Amino acid sequence: MKRLFRSFFELLRPSFKSCRICGKVVAETMREGMPGYTSYARFVSAMLCRECCSSIPWIEAGQICCHACGRSIPCNDCIRLPTSELIRNRSAVRYDDGMKELLAQLKYRGDEAVASLLEALMCPAFEHMTSELYRLYCTHKNLAKYHPRELMQLLQRGGPNQAAYVWDALTYVPVSSQRAEERGFNQAQLLAEGLAVRYGLPAIELLNRIRDTPKQSFQSRKARFQNTEALFTPAPDAAHLLNQLSLKRNRQQSTPTNSTIRILIVDDIYTTGSTLRACAKSLSGTVIPVEVYSLAWARG
Ligand SMILES: [Zn+2]
Ligand SMILES: [Zn+2]
Repeated sequence: MKRLFRSFFELLRPSFKSCRICGKVVAETMREGMPGYTSYARFVSAMLCRECCSSIPWIEAGQICCHACGRSIPCNDCIRLPTSELIRNRSAVRYDDGMKELLAQLKYRGDEAVASLLEALMCPAFEHMTSELYRLYCTHKNLAKYHPRELMQLLQRGGPNQAAYVWDALTYVPVSSQRAEERGFNQAQLLAEGLAVRYGLPAIELLNRIRDTPKQSFQSRKARFQNTEALFTPAPDAAHLLNQLSLKRNRQQSTPTNSTIRILIVDDIYTTGSTLRACAKSLSGTVIPVEVYSLAWARG
């Protein structure tokens, strides 16, 4: 009887107090042991119970086996594939049953609040990827061409400023107009926009999806790659937006050059990489030199 009463009251509680994975009541306390343990950790621990928080299948930097796709297990796929315009992918978590449940709530049950949770879960991977690239670009560039004041700013930069230095913009994998209409939102766009707000970056629409693809989960690798061939084109405004980003980057340098700009494509899942590779190919076809990276919430 007591248990029945408790579950009755649990039902009456507002939904944000229930764990988004198992449904248990969430006590809003910080969960230690999460990578970063900062504001996104607070957000995650408000939406997941203690047990589900501690069983998030993080892909931590030290676990990455394939530096191309960010997989945490040995990967033969990237070696077999031809070189791609997509330089590197990173994912935040492995796609286990708990993570499947979360994505289903967003994609199929239309619970948009879950998008903020997924976006918060992407923060450790985003920050790690950004600081890796920041170190790489600071080491390999010719620092002599910078004005001393600019160099000082560059070297002092940390935290969110690293993101502004590394990325010119975030974009997202588009869904077909039919799917957008059915669902009312594009989950990849929600994730990209959330990250963009958090790190002070622009999130822009750069790609169009020409047609819908059949459900990819039931298809072979080969079929997936065939399906995504020529699936994306640059959005009508893409060349103009990329040009503006390039001009902005040139203004920030004392010796303006034809700067390559860096774009991060955001998606929910990376499975074979065929979708993100096709997006990167499409973006690289514009006249502005672009380096394309991707960040997917989960690695399938
Ligand atoms: Zn739970
Ligand atoms: Zn790989």
